[in-house]
Amino acid sequence: MSSVQFAAARANPAAGIFSTVLEKRRCLFNAKSVPTAMHSDLVQRGRGPLASLMRSNGLYCVFQPIVSLRDGSIYSHEALIRGRPDSALHAPDRLLDAAAKEGLSEEFENHCLMVELGQWSALHESRRLFVNISAKVLEQVYERCGRELLLAYIRDLGILPSMLVLEITEHERVSDMDYLAEIVQDIRETGVSLALDDFGDGRSSLRLWSQLKPEIVKIDKYFTKDISKHAEKVKTIQALQQIAEIFDTTLVAEGIETEDDLRVLRDLGIAYGQGYFLGRPALLPRESVEPQALMVIQDRRVAVYPELRRVSHVGQKQRVSVVEAPCATLHTTNDELASILLARTDLHAIAVVDGSRPVGIINRTDFMNAYSKSYYRELWGRKPCASHINPEPRVIERNHPVEELLSILTSTDQRYLIDGFIVTENGRYVGLGTGDQLVRSVMETRIEAARHANPLTFLPGNIPISQHIERLLASGAEFIACYADLNNFKPFNDQYGYWRGDEMIRLVAKLALAHCNPQRDFVGHVGGDDFVILYQSTDWQLQCEQIISEFAQQAIELFDAPAREAGGIHAEDRHGVARFFPLTTLSIGAVNIHRDEYTSAEQVASVAARAKHDAKIHGEGLVVRDNTNFNEGGVF
Ligand code: C2E
Ligand code: MG
Ligand code: MG
Repeated sequence: MSSVQFAAARANPAAGIFSTVLEKRRCLFNAKSVPTAMHSDLVQRGRGPLASLMRSNGLYCVFQPIVSLRDGSIYSHEALIRGRPDSALHAPDRLLDAAAKEGLSEEFENHCLMVELGQWSALHESRRLFVNISAKVLEQVYERCGRELLLAYIRDLGILPSMLVLEITEHERVSDMDYLAEIVQDIRETGVSLALDDFGDGRSSLRLWSQLKPEIVKIDKYFTKDISKHAEKVKTIQALQQIAEIFDTTLVAEGIETEDDLRVLRDLGIAYGQGYFLGRPALLPRESVEPQALMVIQDRRVAVYPELRRVSHVGQKQRVSVVEAPCATLHTTNDELASILLARTDLHAIAVVDGSRPVGIINRTDFMNAYSKSYYRELWGRKPCASHINPEPRVIERNHPVEELLSILTSTDQRYLIDGFIVTENGRYVGLGTGDQLVRSVMETRIEAARHANPLTFLPGNIPISQHIERLLASGAEFIACYADLNNFKPFNDQYGYWRGDEMIRLVAKLALAHCNPQRDFVGHVGGDDFVILYQSTDWQLQCEQIISEFAQQAIELFDAPAREAGGIHAEDRHGVARFFPLTTLSIGAVNIHRDEYTSAEQVASVAARAKHDAKIHGEGLVVRDNTNFNEGGVF
């Protein structure tokens, strides 16, 4: 034993637990047992079930792999403690609870570490190992043993410090973060790395991440479970990735249980994963990941993120443009108001405020009409302008939700178009807005929103379509780009009106979605009657044919009986000439996109549009093109 170790042991008798291990190292860890001599007085004398389990060496550990999501290799294992399988104290949660009840938390966690490191050492493993330790016990162990003793202990087991990762659990119990950060920094200098466990479970703290700067953060399983179905979980993981980048932290996604979740996490670029789908905890560490998981990791097909399947813009915020304008108060006289309006001929109205809060609006024309009447100035010039105030102005927060604007535009009260509206920031007056600005703002929002999601079908619009194609191209996936378009839709629309036209477009959306695997295939709505489907499913051809035939069957229902009988409608063509148009059908042009064939979404859009063009000209339902490069550009 080194002098440092002796000193530490003398200074604090509790350090003896580690010194004893060092002395008896050879005999210790060939078995999974921790010898009686090492048990503290508390454990020796304890009457509870955990104390007796510890005395009888009833604890062992299992190892669960942590896997590289890039290539499927095993990055590390996590040691997880277990009590005897037949005992009530089998699961770690039960063991930890019992430890707290019996006042043995520190002893128990120490004991776990010894069992786990001992087992790892006995397996002659030289790979990386993650072990759990609560922040509180880490502090206690450090205080009692010091860094050197811990280091000697680890080394003595044949474990390189650089191969050990301490997973800090129970962050909520950290009382002094500065102190913990100091300890962690000191331990880290030995080469041991640090991970924050279960990040985001509600008890973890961003401050701890920022202050401890762990090499690794393990994202709690809440965020990975069903991530393939929840857009908000994707967003949360993306936000955590941004933080990880700031702090230069590697992320591990915990609790991966399904193929779909694994695919999304891999595509998001999460470095490592852990979970039953990759490998369950087992007595022996694994040499390779579960074969099913390896197939997913190596598969080039990309996941369709849940956010892109159907997008809504409810809650989106928009900034409204503001005319900076002086305002009146309840005490402003009519003369003063008139001189403001004469100086600012561009103003359509004046806001009236009480303090900084708007209480009314005065319309310029109404006021000036009254003010210019004979004797008005003499009689009312020095009186307050109160009688001209409209006390119910329309007030809009500068950063308002889009729905608020829409509700104003569609309300029966159209006064705001003349009076305009008052703009506030956090309830304080900042300026005026005009009716035409409002209309423009709504239009811009609508156009921008439609580029993300089509307002009729709520399917992703041009921007997400392009983004998804870029992802497919970047991954080297082989896929089929389909462009679908209706034949004879215009005469139908002209004859029956937009309402039924919309129905028909929604029918295409419904059928396209029904014939796609939501995890593999992507349906986008370019606009009007144009749709894009990006298939990775191998049965795409059958699915396309079914879309076409089901559309033909169901679209008939949208025509009136005479048209159904006649097999079409009489209507004017684009040149105003009366013609017979057959019933509306669907054409799909499909192109096989091979690896490295195209470099941009625009090129893919262009070839798919050409295939659709061919399909329409041939009047066939489905036209498939293969490996035809077109040079002209084109966007959806
Ligand atoms: P943890 O450190 O977050 O460990 C991961 C837990 O998730 C393990 O449960 C593991 O079996 C489980 N798990 C792994 N993959 C999946 C999955 O795909 N789905 C689901 N639902 N669960 C999965 P376990 O072994 O019951 O451990 C529970 C907790 O007990 C651990 O959470 C850790 O906080 C604590 N613990 C375990 N061993 C020790 C130890 O030796 N010392 C200390 N201090 N705490 C430990
Ligand atoms: Mg853990
Ligand atoms: Mg965990």
